[in-house]
Amino acid sequence: MKRLVLFLLTININICYAQSEKCASHLRLINYLEKNEEAKKYRLNLEKETKKFKLSKASNINIPVVVHVVYKNANENISNSQIESQINVLNDDFTRMNSNANNTPFDFLPIISNLQINFCLATIDPNGNPTNGIIRKQTGVNDFTSYGDEICYDSLGGSNAWNTKKYLNIWVCDIESGVLGWGQYPAGGDINTDGVVIDFTAFGTNGTATHPYNLGRTSTHEIGHWFNLLHLWGDQICGDDLVNDTPEQEEANYGCKIHPHPSCTNNGDMFMNFMDYTNDACMNSFTQGQKNRVWAAIYNYRNELLNSNGCTNDTLMDNDAGVLKILQPNNENENCATPIIPRIVLKNFGNSTLHSADIKYNINGGNEIFYNWNGSLNTNETDTFSLPPLTSNGTNHLLIISSLLPNGMPDINTSNDQKTIFFSSINGKNIKLDIMTDNYGYETSWMLLNENNDLIDSAHNLMNNKLYNFSYCLPFGCYEFIINDSYGDGFCCEFGNGMYEIAEWPYLNSIVYGNQFLYTDTAHFCITPTKTNYIASESFNIFPNPSQGNIFIKNNKTLNNTPIFANIYNHLGQLIYAEEINNELIKLGNNINDGIYHLLIYNNDFIYSKKIILQKN
Ligand SMILES: [Zn+2]
Repeated sequence: MKRLVLFLLTININICYAQSEKCASHLRLINYLEKNEEAKKYRLNLEKETKKFKLSKASNINIPVVVHVVYKNANENISNSQIESQINVLNDDFTRMNSNANNTPFDFLPIISNLQINFCLATIDPNGNPTNGIIRKQTGVNDFTSYGDEICYDSLGGSNAWNTKKYLNIWVCDIESGVLGWGQYPAGGDINTDGVVIDFTAFGTNGTATHPYNLGRTSTHEIGHWFNLLHLWGDQICGDDLVNDTPEQEEANYGCKIHPHPSCTNNGDMFMNFMDYTNDACMNSFTQGQKNRVWAAIYNYRNELLNSNGCTNDTLMDNDAGVLKILQPNNENENCATPIIPRIVLKNFGNSTLHSADIKYNINGGNEIFYNWNGSLNTNETDTFSLPPLTSNGTNHLLIISSLLPNGMPDINTSNDQKTIFFSSINGKNIKLDIMTDNYGYETSWMLLNENNDLIDSAHNLMNNKLYNFSYCLPFGCYEFIINDSYGDGFCCEFGNGMYEIAEWPYLNSIVYGNQFLYTDTAHFCITPTKTNYIASESFNIFPNPSQGNIFIKNNKTLNNTPIFANIYNHLGQLIYAEEINNELIKLGNNINDGIYHLLIYNNDFIYSKKIILQKN
């Protein structure tokens, strides 16, 4: 048996050198348990408890963090701003507010989860004195090895831990090359080394953070280990991570993968899970099974965090709401100018349960728009939702969103009320292009050109009888769509029913449509601004709300006879329902989960929006 363990150890070391093992957690755990029978027994018992554990309801926990910056030279003495950027990433990733959450492949959405864990730089040190939660120590050590514990001791050139039961200790230093960090598993090491260690080039999102590990995901991953999460491949070929819902996978994934990337017997590795080895930009998820395992570790081993006072703010107000983050529009992607649907995270910073707040917003100092939020948030809990759309003209927009009147009372603490974002948008419209091919798809080719004859998109060698959909954000201006048939018999209607259509999205106004031609057909069209009106909330009655899936829409306003459409978006902003509404009733299928959704009703002349709640039982 012992020989087997040694053998396994050798394999691990080989993998380590072959593929650059960037995380040292597993190897450190094995080494420690080899020498500590007590810890081995404890961890076996913890595993039994974890198996039994069923998380009923978690309320957000706020974990005080102390960051030990242990530096040899000025470059390694990273800035406060770099440290804060890391705390922000942790807060996003552990509450599923990360801006790349919408990259999770659709088939994994049913298992993804919000771990409900927040992090704050400690405000009170173990002696009860105020602190900023950052310790800086100069060291004589060139680089710290991944198997030693020097980093955790003053006397060895490191920095002594704060009470590891009450604080998450993060050491940032220069680790030997190739290793980005490690996290100590519960009872997987000495109490004084319990925390995570991160290389200074893989910490935070600015300063010394270096691509492709410059988005703070090394810390997310290592803190995952600190909460007892294993690598997805269980550190063996097709091994087990002791979590039910993550697919069994063969080995670590590196770089970025395209879904599906199957291995072992799965339909696709969950390479976008934080517990894989992919690049920071390609990670975005934890699962519900992982959440259960994390909370089992909190209740069974890290339970003193539940009432740690390291982040206590003595001046907590009763009624204190604030905009924590603006998710949409963002300043990374291009936004098509009309309409902009802002999406925000509202947080209850107060002692009292938050039931209502007003959200106020404007673009470039224009008219204020008000939105009345209702719900139920305990202290430190958040809600993510979309606001009624607004228009923006020109580039370089400044969007200011603030909350006021928490529970109808004046907000005394205004420091957390407001968030702003600069974003650029294309002054144009969202367009969708549909092309249906005939029995001879390879004869068809097409091009979309702007008024300067610049190619925007094209395709050839199409498949037979297939409907292709494309979408674009086209700037205001005129365009030419050219479609060709190399055989000269068009694509309608003798050998199939080909057609093309360009329409405004989401309004579905058809701009051009065609089907019959011989060798070639050219459609000219222009994209021009039109005015969109937002109508008042009394124009429609939406009931019941909450509903069990059948939602009635009563129209109180005399509208012209143009068709009316309804879209419903989930909390990630994904479209889950889009229909023309004829009979004033929306029926949502049984496969749509309970929760809060955003309903958008519109036609050519107006947009109306409302938050709806689906509650089947
Ligand atoms: Zn790891």
